Amino acid sequence: MTERLYWHDPYLQRFTAAVVEIGEHNGQPAVILSRTAFYPTGGGQPHDLGTLNGIPVVEVIEREVDGAILHILAHPLSAREVEGRIDWERRFDHMQQHTGQHILSQAFLRITGAQTVSFHMGQEAVTIDLDQTGLPLEAIEAAEELANRVVLENREVRTWFVGEKDVKGLELRRAPKVEGSIRVVEVAEFDRSACGGTHVRRTGEVGPIKILKLERRGEVTRVSFLCGWRALRDYQRKHRLLSEIGSFLSAGEADLPDAIRALQRDLKEARKAMAAMQELYLELALPALEKEARPASFGEILLHVWPQLPSGLVPRLARRLSEGRPRLVILAAGGAEGLLTVACGPGVPVDAREALKRILGRLGRGGGGGRPDYAQASLAHVDLQSLHQALIEAVSSLAGERE
Ligand SMILES: [Zn+2]
Repeated sequence: MTERLYWHDPYLQRFTAAVVEIGEHNGQPAVILSRTAFYPTGGGQPHDLGTLNGIPVVEVIEREVDGAILHILAHPLSAREVEGRIDWERRFDHMQQHTGQHILSQAFLRITGAQTVSFHMGQEAVTIDLDQTGLPLEAIEAAEELANRVVLENREVRTWFVGEKDVKGLELRRAPKVEGSIRVVEVAEFDRSACGGTHVRRTGEVGPIKILKLERRGEVTRVSFLCGWRALRDYQRKHRLLSEIGSFLSAGEADLPDAIRALQRDLKEARKAMAAMQELYLELALPALEKEARPASFGEILLHVWPQLPSGLVPRLARRLSEGRPRLVILAAGGAEGLLTVACGPGVPVDAREALKRILGRLGRGGGGGRPDYAQASLAHVDLQSLHQALIEAVSSLAGERE
């Protein structure tokens, strides 16, 4: 079994060791050392990164059969002695999150009685699952406050090993998952847990502990939180975001909710005015469009293209113009909301879906659909000139069609 230097000194960033075994893991070079400061993935905490004789260590895992620690490398290593260096920024971040988690879990236990059933530290989010749901906001805030008080009291964090028979008297937060001798991590006069992770020396090093969100997941509540530098960076990011939104809306932080409500109100009114204008346009446009109808073998054909028109108007105009008479109506609008509609009044011997397909085919497009008497397809950013051409060709072939 590899000697685990990180247990005795989690602040150790450089070490030397003898190479005990050189091999492979899933096709990648891997080595086992006599001793190591590299933490392997486990207990919710991700593995360390760093180098061995300058070769990047890409993953660190514990071999189940014998507890040896495998350092998976970017390139093969051929040496009998190595100097290891730990990526300290990453490791110290893990220490802040992990000690912070112990403190927050104990705070939740004391304030709400909720036990932490799992812990996960990701690249961005850190989460614990609590065995209770429906926790009131005041309790969550109280737990966050208690956790931060313990941080600011700068309490000592100690670790030691105990034999199995002495575990009972320790009043651990949770029963240990491993058998035999266990490692205890204690936050002075606050929390005692069985844990193999790396921890800071004093709680002050954890920095701020901030809860971000709670989600119900079946019978548990998932609490996302950040500690230390992660929490500070999150605060900086959010502060920047708020300042940016504030300058968009020309409002101070405290006035933002009112400014957004005012925007929503304006938008609602603008939409109402737009709907009224569309109604007006519809009634004004209809008589002029009527005049564009041309005779066809079955009745009439009406074709019109707008460079741009709110997409909601086109189908309404198409329906109104084809209602109750043998008229084939093809309307199209360009722009971002571009739309092509084909409407067939009673007695028009054309299937709207077929006509639509034919026009789209000429444009090299597909999609759309509808019923025999009405079909439509979106035409976002269509080239108006080719649209005109396609419509004129389609109309000249449809105009003479008879069943
Ligand atoms: Zn732990």
